[in-house]
Amino acid sequence: MQNKTVRDYIRTIPDFPHKGILFRDVTTLFADARGMRLCVDQLVAPFTGEKIDVVAGLEARGFILGGAVAHQLGSGFVPIRKKGKLPAATHEQEYALEYGTATVEVHRDALQPGARVLMVDDLLATGGTAKAGIALLERLGAEIIGCAFVVDLPDLGGRAVLEDMGMPIHTLCDFD
Ligand code: IMP
Repeated sequence: MQNKTVRDYIRTIPDFPHKGILFRDVTTLFADARGMRLCVDQLVAPFTGEKIDVVAGLEARGFILGGAVAHQLGSGFVPIRKKGKLPAATHEQEYALEYGTATVEVHRDALQPGARVLMVDDLLATGGTAKAGIALLERLGAEIIGCAFVVDLPDLGGRAVLEDMGMPIHTLCDFD
């Protein structure tokens, strides 16, 4: 296809990880040289010329994107990881999953209070993961400039939740 968009590179896998779920698989976007370039350029575009001290990436696909975005913006990179992976002292934040809970962590010394931060992940669904990441960054005293995602699933309501918190949200494409 000529002039493929970011959305066109994303593959949909039915019944993963559970029956009835349509999993939006960005590995096909990342694997394509043009797709990867297009996606990172579009994620960065609204923030070009802004002073961003740190890009914070949510594990795991947010690391792939966040590193590339940080390089392009000339920023540092901070990982927000699943519990038990970071070696130094952390803050932790629990959040609700469909069944049960999960916990994410950030190093307590990951950034300076007042640092201007852009948070990045591949996909925004209910917003639970992003909200937990925002809570951790705020606990560090970050000034969150925005949150950027490749995919928005608007029916799951995450965008509305984050916008109600006053977060500037940047997404590249939607799926029902
Ligand atoms: P939320 O917390 O409900 O907004 O879910 C978003 C998190 O789950 C992100 O970290 C995504 O990587 C992951 N996720 C949920 N659904 C999908 C999907 O269809 N494709 C890829 N990642 C997903």
